[in-house]
Amino acid sequence: MNVSTRFAPSPTGRLHPGHAFSAIMAHDFARERDGRFLLRIEDIDGTRSRPEHVETILRDLEWLGLGWDGEVVFQSQRLASYQAALDRLRGMGLLYPCFCTRADIAASLTAPHGPEGAIYPGTCRNLDAPDLSKPHCWRLDMAKALAASGSESLSFHDSRHGLIHADPTQHGDVVLARKDAPASYHLAVTLDDAAQGITDIVRGDDLLAATHVHRLLQALLGLPTPRYHHHALLLGPDGERLAKRHGAPTLAALRESGADGRAFAEALRRGELPVGFAAAKA
Ligand code: GLU
Repeated sequence: MNVSTRFAPSPTGRLHPGHAFSAIMAHDFARERDGRFLLRIEDIDGTRSRPEHVETILRDLEWLGLGWDGEVVFQSQRLASYQAALDRLRGMGLLYPCFCTRADIAASLTAPHGPEGAIYPGTCRNLDAPDLSKPHCWRLDMAKALAASGSESLSFHDSRHGLIHADPTQHGDVVLARKDAPASYHLAVTLDDAAQGITDIVRGDDLLAATHVHRLLQALLGLPTPRYHHHALLLGPDGERLAKRHGAPTLAALRESGADGRAFAEALRRGELPVGFAAAKA
């Protein structure tokens, strides 16, 4: 079987044990099938991405004993492909410029909530003469996009959750090109996974909702749909998703304190946090 997986961290901070768990899951999935494990740095968030975090991420992965195949791919070097996809979707009449600020959207009393916060109420959807010299993002007109997807019913398969009917409408008119970045997470990740030939996406359950949007973008852009494996999230001793309040140090802090990264990775594989690790502040 020809399998490729990837780990795709955003270098906006230091990795924590939850990232390590996800990287291990994706790495082991590929290795157990004689497949490839690729590393992609999602660094198009110019305001939050930092080169020093990239360096730290590479060292953390080595410390965990996770070797990747081929060159590291940086999203910041793939902007032309994001632009081409945006042009294509715009040409299909599926995008519109949106001038609203976060505060405008939050202030809209009609904005219902979706998996990632307020659903955009559609204020800019039908502007007559948008002034593109003003700061704007580009949104996908969800209703038009679904109609254009050419399929009555979109679905994807997840090894833990089974066959899932994709319902991207729960996200409303998602942003595909941000005011401050050339592409949004949804667009970049969908294009990159296809460009890198990723067959199996192994990532946490926190991204399951986003997959509904990715499935629609695959249909619109004629991209293959990978197999999905959304794993359960690492939990703290109280059964809640592992967080800072559990006293979980970053991987860099553990590494710098002299901890054994491979032993740490083995413990995570067994579904354990190493003894004494998270108990202190639980
Ligand atoms: N860059 C995303 C993150 O760090 C992960 C993307 C993905 O696995 O699809 O949360």
